[in-house]
Amino acid sequence: MMNRYEQELSRLQAKGNLRTLPEVEHSGKWIIAGGKKLLNLSSNDYLGLAADKDLRRRFMEQLDEADFLFSSSSSRLLTGNYPVCERLESLLARLFQTESALTFSSGYHLNTGILPAVSDNHTLILADKLVHASLIDGIRLASAEYIRYRHQDYGQLEALVSKHHAAYERIIIVTESIFSMDGDVTDLRRLVAVKKTYPNVMLYVDEAHAVGVRGDKGLGVAEEQNCVSDIDFLCGTFGKAMASVGAYVVCRKELREFLVNRMRTFIFTTALPPVNVAWTCFMFERLPLWKERRMHLARMGQRLRNALAEQGIPCVSGSHIVPLVVGDSADAILKAEALRRKGFYVLPVRPPTVPEGTSRLRFSLRADIDESELNELITCLR
Ligand SMILES: *Cc1c(COP(=O)(O)O)cnc(C)c1O
Repeated sequence: MMNRYEQELSRLQAKGNLRTLPEVEHSGKWIIAGGKKLLNLSSNDYLGLAADKDLRRRFMEQLDEADFLFSSSSSRLLTGNYPVCERLESLLARLFQTESALTFSSGYHLNTGILPAVSDNHTLILADKLVHASLIDGIRLASAEYIRYRHQDYGQLEALVSKHHAAYERIIIVTESIFSMDGDVTDLRRLVAVKKTYPNVMLYVDEAHAVGVRGDKGLGVAEEQNCVSDIDFLCGTFGKAMASVGAYVVCRKELREFLVNRMRTFIFTTALPPVNVAWTCFMFERLPLWKERRMHLARMGQRLRNALAEQGIPCVSGSHIVPLVVGDSADAILKAEALRRKGFYVLPVRPPTVPEGTSRLRFSLRADIDESELNELITCLR
């Protein structure tokens, strides 16, 4: 008799939703899969800096011996609070011009930790329907009540806030600035306006896909839309465009102090390795300089979106993340394989990552792609 796990796996297989770990090797913007060298359009290395040899060499040249450690060997609250952690947090606070910043081991730690810490059963969380799984898990761990509003439906959000604000001590609106699966950009100023209608509303924004990529200095959509100081929890990750690992929140000082005392995924885990924190500092110091890369990436996103529009393919993206929604999982797999034969590594994204019936190819562009490679991709899509 098949056991429960085998049954579940066969069910996934039958629906085209079984996942396996891909065997791949890397070479800069290329990926070597099945003996073939393919342009990697599935990575989150949006600025194309993760494998930059020159950058890594310069980092090693200036690296302080004291930071050349592959483990912090402890939680931040015990002996893991290396000076480099505070240096990174001061740098972030200075760049964002906020009172303070706090860093975490990953975006997953960030999003599963903050909401449970800052909410209780007198709190209502209002989250966009399509927020990342890590935020959903954070909401599940929180003792707050929650409602997921329709994706980017600011009208519904407004109605929910005015209906519920009096019944709760606090409402926290939770969203992303660029959504991972659709690449659409949130109108943060609109959310700030909703938040400001009542004094007990807070705003939490995850900029995982936007930090490094958007804004004049690369600080994200909040910088671009000029509303950094209006967001209570402005969060982002280091593992994507920043080519490192970890995550941050920039916030008021009192919130930082509260998180240090109450946030379980901050307290009960080993701090990031100092060498990695030093690398993140190095990257943020240079971030304003990579404006040309950001502009190139934005132009390519625009061109790819236009190319899809010309073929009548609806696309809500406003960024470098461009989905081609296919619908059926098996079709998405076939389309991805066809592109692979033409030299492009694009992964099909299937449920449960995206809603049932909206399987898609997700092109995630990167700044080290050139004009001719993009033209070739567009030709293949015709
Ligand atoms: C990638 C991602 C995370 C998780 O960040 P990690 O550092 O990889 O754990 C969180 N939120 C969003 C929106 C993401 O896309």
